[in-house]
Amino acid sequence: MSGLIPGQVTAIADGVWRLLALNPGMMTGPGTNTYLIAADQGLLVLDPGPADSHHIDNIEAAAAEIGLPLSAVLVTHTHRDHSPATTLLRERVPGLRRLGPVAPDDGLQDDDWQPDQVLGDGDVIALGERRLRVIATPGHVGNHLCFLLEDVGLLFSGDHLIQGSTVVIAPPSGSMKDYLESLRRLQHETLHHLAPGHGDLIEDPQGYIEHTIGHRLRREDKVVRALTQHPDSTASDLVSTVYDDVPVFLHGVATLSLMAHLIKLEQDGRAHRDAGERWALQG
Ligand SMILES: [Zn+2]
Repeated sequence: MSGLIPGQVTAIADGVWRLLALNPGMMTGPGTNTYLIAADQGLLVLDPGPADSHHIDNIEAAAAEIGLPLSAVLVTHTHRDHSPATTLLRERVPGLRRLGPVAPDDGLQDDDWQPDQVLGDGDVIALGERRLRVIATPGHVGNHLCFLLEDVGLLFSGDHLIQGSTVVIAPPSGSMKDYLESLRRLQHETLHHLAPGHGDLIEDPQGYIEHTIGHRLRREDKVVRALTQHPDSTASDLVSTVYDDVPVFLHGVATLSLMAHLIKLEQDGRAHRDAGERWALQG
């Protein structure tokens, strides 16, 4: 089940395969995982990945190896490492249906994404006898969806939960308050494995979710302590204190998640900012 080798198709569950895209990097880890899921009419392509013709070649080769035609594209969200391959795939497979959320307009999305069918919380995609249920999980970005293959408890977690790293929460579409609520919602689901957008399969999903919530709340505590020591500071002023455990080259990205923490504290009535975006604790 393990092993993340670009271009190699790996069976991860009954009727489910993973194919790693060729886009490793700081924000993508080993690269984006594309999942192929057997349905009645053919294969669903979940998160086809970045617009890279070599990855499209690999998706087509994988479908041929599996012996099913490509029937539809499904996306967890519309960041540029997850959905843009859809356009290239549709040039090769005309009429390929697009299922997923609408893209928010925050300048960080795949501008070409246009769903033929808009999916939302509670929608079910029937795969013969099996059910793939949509769970809305806003937080990483406002339109994020997870998909639960119910009979095996396999959750396609996109960038809501990835292996080996925390995800960036970039306001305004990203929201730390929503992110934590989406994590807590998953605590009520029966999950056996997570199939993340980046990294290998994750065992003990509930343990991982609890760890992730704890990690975010500890970071929030650090933000509160930093504001106690350095009131009237901007997010850029605070980042080296709050993220002193993170390499400096990541502080630019960390500042986005720090903003998300500050906005959550503001929503919780615990912090406020002035017109110059200088933050302080409330009261
Ligand atoms: Zn993303």
